[in-house]
Amino acid sequence: MPIARTGLLSLAVIAAPYVLRAQPAATPAPFAPLTNAVHRGIDGERALRTVSFVQQYFRLPGNRGFDAAIDTVAALLRAAGYVREDSAPPTARLVYRIESRPMAQPAWTPLDGRLTIAGQAQPLQAFATNLNMLAINSGATPEGGVTAEVVDVGAGTDADFAKVNVQGRIALTTGAARGVFPRAMAAGAIGLLATQKLPAYNQQEKNRTAIQFNSVPRDTIRNGWTIFISLATHDALRAALAAATPAAPLRVHALVRTLSEVRPERTIVAEVRGATRPGERFVYSAHVQEPGANDNASGVGALAEMARVAADLVKRNIARPQRTLTFLWGDEIRATDRYLKEDSVRRAGVKWGMSLDMVGENTALTGGTFLIEKMPDPSAVWVRGEDQHTEWGGRVLAEKDIRAHWFNDYVRSRCLDRARATGWVVKANPFEGGSDHTPFLTAQIPAVLLWHFTDQFYHTDADRIGMVSATTLGHVGSCALTAGLLLADGSAAIVRGVLDELVATAERTLRTQGQLSRDTLARGGTRAHEQHILEVWRDYYIQAIDRIPEIASAPLDLTAALEAAKRRVRAAVPNLPQ
Ligand SMILES: [Zn+2]
Repeated sequence: MPIARTGLLSLAVIAAPYVLRAQPAATPAPFAPLTNAVHRGIDGERALRTVSFVQQYFRLPGNRGFDAAIDTVAALLRAAGYVREDSAPPTARLVYRIESRPMAQPAWTPLDGRLTIAGQAQPLQAFATNLNMLAINSGATPEGGVTAEVVDVGAGTDADFAKVNVQGRIALTTGAARGVFPRAMAAGAIGLLATQKLPAYNQQEKNRTAIQFNSVPRDTIRNGWTIFISLATHDALRAALAAATPAAPLRVHALVRTLSEVRPERTIVAEVRGATRPGERFVYSAHVQEPGANDNASGVGALAEMARVAADLVKRNIARPQRTLTFLWGDEIRATDRYLKEDSVRRAGVKWGMSLDMVGENTALTGGTFLIEKMPDPSAVWVRGEDQHTEWGGRVLAEKDIRAHWFNDYVRSRCLDRARATGWVVKANPFEGGSDHTPFLTAQIPAVLLWHFTDQFYHTDADRIGMVSATTLGHVGSCALTAGLLLADGSAAIVRGVLDELVATAERTLRTQGQLSRDTLARGGTRAHEQHILEVWRDYYIQAIDRIPEIASAPLDLTAALEAAKRRVRAAVPNLPQ
C-alpha cells in the first residue's frame, strides 16, 4: 500500500502552537514547486543515452572504459554549465573537478575474446556478446589466437593436475578459477576455461549464455589467461569431449586480447555550490566500475542527468540551494570513503548521503522492484511486514545498530510523490550494505541506497542496455534530485513539511507494527517482547524528530513544534491486549 502524507501548516508565525493535520493525499505544498520542476525537468531518455554509451565498456578503475565514462560525464557537465573548479571565479555556482590518483596495480582492459571448437565456423562465445568472458587480470594469447588441446582437470586440485598433462594445452575446470588458475599455470597450461555456478537469482538454467564478471590473480610471468564459460558453452564442450578420442582429442581456438597499462584512477566531483552554507553538503555517489548496464552505467547516467537539471533549475532561480549539492562518480565505496576521509573539515559538513546503484531496471525484463535500502532502523532488527530483505542478503541487526533518523522515511516519501503521479512501484528493504551508502554510515552520516533487486541479470553480461528503462531512470532521478534539492534549500516551510510527514509516517508505522504484534500474540508471542518492539519504534521516531532541526538552513525555533510532534508519537503507540 503506498504511503500517504500529511498536508502542511501555513507557517505564518514560526513559534505558533503546532497543530498536526490528518493524513494528506498529496505532496506537502511547500515541496510542490521544486518537486514539479524536477519531475518536468528530468529526462529519462537523455539519461538512457549516457547509459547506452557507458555500458559499452568493461569499466575498472584506471582502465580505458572507466575513463571513457569519466570523460563523458565531464563533457555533459560542461554542456550543462559546470566549469573547471581550478579556473572558476569564486562566485561560480556550478563547478567540477577530476581527481587523479596513481594506482598500485596496472589498469586492465579487455579488448577482444573468442572461443571456438577447432574446425567449427561459429564461436561458442565471443566478447561482443559475452562482455564478461575474460577473467579480470587475464594476459593474452598470441595475436590472432591459439589452437590447442583441451584437458579436463575437474575441480582443478593438485591431485587433479597430477593425473593429467596440461603442458602447452588448455585446462577445463569446474573449480573456482581464482584458485585453479595459478595451478594451471604452474602445470604449464597456456590458459584456463572455467565454468561458473551462478547464484540462484541469476536463473542460470534459463539464462544459459550469461557469464558473471570475476577475476583471477595476475600472472606477469606466463601472461596466462582465463576464459569464463557459460552453461551453454560448458554443455557444448562436454559433448565435444565425450565425442573426442585419444587420436582426435578436443581442440579449441582461443583468442584473448587484453591491455595492462600504468594509468591513474580518476574520480569526478561536481558541485552546485550552496548560496549561504556552501560548507554543508548533500552528497550523491554513483560507482563507475563494473561492466553492467544497470550495474552501474545506470547510476552514472542518472546522476549526470540530475546534475544537468540541478544546474538548469539553479540558473533559472527555481531551485535556491543554500547548501551544496555534490555529485561523485568514481570507484565504488573507495571514492566515497576517500571523499569523507581526506578532508575532515569537509567531512564535518557532509549532512546526508545517497548512493545510486542499479537505478535503471526494466523490471518487466529483470524482475524485482525499485528499492530504497534504509539505514538501520527497527525493521532491520525485527524484520516483518512490508520491508523485507532481498535475495542479495542481509543479516538481522542488533538494537544498538539502529540509527534513529528521519532520512529513510523522507526519501521514501519523495519517491512516493513520483509514484503517486506515475504508478511507479516503490519499495524499501532493511539495511544490507554493499554500496556507496556504507562509507557515509560508517562516518555516522545519514545515507540510503537507491537500487533494484532481484535483477536476474545481476553481475552477468546479460545486464545490457536492453534491460535498462528510460522511464525508470526518470523516476529514480526525479526522486533522488528532489530529495537533495529540498534539503539543500532547508527553508522553514520545508522543515515543517518534513516534520509533518514524519509524524504521519510514525503514526502509520506504529499502527502497522501494532497490528503485526497483535498477529504475533495471536500466534503465541509474548506481550512483553511485542510491547518492547513497539517502544523501540516509538523511541526511534522520537529521536528522529530531534534530528529535524538539522534541516533548517536559517535559525528556526522548533521547540513547540517538536514537543507537539513527540506527543503525537507517544499517543500513537498501540496498547496490546493483556
Ligand atoms: Zn553496483
